[in-house]
Amino acid sequence: MSRPLVARIDSAALAHNLAVARRAAPKAKILAVIKANGYGHGLARVARAFLAADAFAVLSIDEAAQLRGAGYTHPIVLLEGFFQPDELPEIARLRLRPVIHRQDQAEILAKTRLEHKVDVCLKVDTGMHRLGLAPKRLADALTVLRAAPHVGGITLMTHFARADDDPDSVAAQLALFREATAGLELPFSLANSAALLRHPETHGDWVRPGIMLYGASPFAQQSGADLGLLPAMTLQSQLIASQFVRKGEGVGYGAAYVAERDMKVGVVACGYADGYPRHAGTGTPILVDGRETRTLGRVSMDMLFADLSGVPAAHVGSPVTLWGEGLPAERVAAAAGTIAYELFTALAPRVRIEET
Ligand SMILES: *Cc1c(COP(=O)(O)O)cnc(C)c1O
Repeated sequence: MSRPLVARIDSAALAHNLAVARRAAPKAKILAVIKANGYGHGLARVARAFLAADAFAVLSIDEAAQLRGAGYTHPIVLLEGFFQPDELPEIARLRLRPVIHRQDQAEILAKTRLEHKVDVCLKVDTGMHRLGLAPKRLADALTVLRAAPHVGGITLMTHFARADDDPDSVAAQLALFREATAGLELPFSLANSAALLRHPETHGDWVRPGIMLYGASPFAQQSGADLGLLPAMTLQSQLIASQFVRKGEGVGYGAAYVAERDMKVGVVACGYADGYPRHAGTGTPILVDGRETRTLGRVSMDMLFADLSGVPAAHVGSPVTLWGEGLPAERVAAAAGTIAYELFTALAPRVRIEET
């Protein structure tokens, strides 16, 4: 028998979550964000499940070429644009939409001869201070792009820094965006999952959901289930050993957990080399035989420990859920001081994937 660790990807859940996004933003088109290998769920798999999306967003030409190779004709946005001028012919050939976020990119694009027109997203920085032109520089970039023979449609874009936790910050960024783009009759795209769900005033022409499509909540105080989302990735394994540990004895590396009483401890086939967060200390929730219990001690490379005190019938072979159905990834992430985005995208290539 092979190692029991498996990530089950639920295509119906992915499609359901896209429909939730559609209902929440009925007037906008959906740019499904499938960067980072579809947030760890598999690029080809999520593209198939999100066929009903209006466009896809990825980072690299390689990812986009895979999608084109598989026959998708959706617009494909490159969220970080192009890195080198010599990428532009391929971008044109594959009919990709780079995000232009610096003036020099606009200028390079404008002077490159290309076989087709390239549609672009022009990104303005309204307060996140990551990518985008300063609002007062937008007009210059637009002048360059509009005069360029090979530039087609232009979509304006910005990104929110605090759509998950600060309505005032969203309002300020939105106001700055409106001021910077006043009078420009161009389509625009602002909203990530958090803004899509909580700030309908930001929907515009294109919404850009990512995390919600995978069933996790972008908000600390609300679960995916609260938002009507279904978890798309369930990481499952089994107990491969169990140990009786006497009160006062240590468990695992560094004896980071010391038994508070005589107890039974389960050994789970899943470790940090599988993408399980090593920072998840004692007390991280885990399901054994469908019952919630807690992890104990340090996560090893290939294994971790579960407290079997409340699961007396558990035995070698008992099913274990690390996260997913029955145990939101957000809760495991919070216990490890991170977010579900990181758990999903850190899933290691060695983890077998089964699609349901
Ligand atoms: C990743 C990303 C998104 C999606 O964000 P979520 O929080 O996952 O919904 C949207 N827009 C941009 C520019 C991104 O980089």
